[in-house]
Amino acid sequence: VTVVAIRERAPNERRVAISPEIVKKTKALGADVLIETGAGAGAQLPDSAFPGADIAPDATAALARADVLLKVQPPTLAEIAALRQGSVVISFLQPHADPERTKALRDRNITSFAMELLPRTTRAQAMDVLSSQAGMAGYKAVLIAAQASGKFFPMLTTAAGTIRPSKVLIVGAGVAGLQAIATARRLGAQVEGFDVRPETREQIESLGAKFLDLGVSAAGTGGYARELTAEERAEQQQRLADHVKNIDAIVTTAAVPGRKAPRIITAAMVDGMKPGSVIVDLAAETGGNCELTKPGETWVHNDVTIVGPLNLPSMGAIHSSEMYARNLFNFLALSLKDGALNLDWNDELIAQTCLTHAGEIRHAPTKALVE
Ligand code: NAD
Repeated sequence: VTVVAIRERAPNERRVAISPEIVKKTKALGADVLIETGAGAGAQLPDSAFPGADIAPDATAALARADVLLKVQPPTLAEIAALRQGSVVISFLQPHADPERTKALRDRNITSFAMELLPRTTRAQAMDVLSSQAGMAGYKAVLIAAQASGKFFPMLTTAAGTIRPSKVLIVGAGVAGLQAIATARRLGAQVEGFDVRPETREQIESLGAKFLDLGVSAAGTGGYARELTAEERAEQQQRLADHVKNIDAIVTTAAVPGRKAPRIITAAMVDGMKPGSVIVDLAAETGGNCELTKPGETWVHNDVTIVGPLNLPSMGAIHSSEMYARNLFNFLALSLKDGALNLDWNDELIAQTCLTHAGEIRHAPTKALVE
């Protein structure tokens, strides 16, 4: 089979779905690799960085030869139309976001795997694109906060006197939040974190941060949080309002699967913060954890800087791509042997990650949404 990667064309997307290391590994499993010219440019990988791969002059030429297409952003309708019937796509596919794309994949008879549907089991960890990309997002979010702050993060003892460390609060302690906590700690800040899943207390403390107990516990299914009730939300907000008055920087990372981002930081809370404080809202893309977030913008409200970054993993495209490419390869390797592709539908990772196959939508919630 031929495994193909093309240049990402979505605005502000610098990542690429394949790396030089993965070209080698894919070829070692007997497949050919074909890359569109310039595919790696955003991640500082010129065509010459991919020895062993064939280079296609444009996307159409590459797509026409693909048995397996590796992508970061979901393929466009035009890209889907350029694929051969029966080929395989492995990518983020945002099945909730765009019914037309899912229909196009179905109607073109494409076997598509939406990596956001991958079960988050122990066996799937090496393929977990949500985790690998969230790590970069959490890391960059803290750097943005440090950059936007007029203060040092660490404590300093200098000839000009002692500087007290910044107080940083991380809201939500999933994969991104824990990396944010670790990063803020490495910068020397005094870090606190909270989450509604009780097991995060130990994880936060093991990173040397303090667990902020807001008296709300809301574990959902599959290791995720559930949405808070109105009473729980009020309780959380009341306790938080007092607390943020002393915080220099807040990084919010809270999410509930399949829902809009929970609103946690209200306008009134922001009004209560010290001048010069910073909020970086990692949930900007899905509506924001802060009421005042403007997605894709940085603005100042009452002397508090509020940053709503989009696509943070793309900001660290070199390592994000390296990890993403490994994740996709590990998933592909479940099915690739001696240059042939065999999909084992009894494997839950294959079955549950599949969005479309053989002219059907295989993911029941998306099928209900689309058909
Ligand atoms: P996520 O992006 O869905 O959510 C981020 C965090 O926000 C979660 O920790 C969630 O509990 C928290 N949150 C939701 N509502 C909140 C609220 N109102 N206030 C405060 N916090 C709130 O989550 P994620 O980072 O993708 O991962 C969630 C869980 O899945 C974690 O326990 C993680 O360890 C687990 N996980 C397991 C595996 C595996 O075993 N293979 C892989 C990845 C993640």
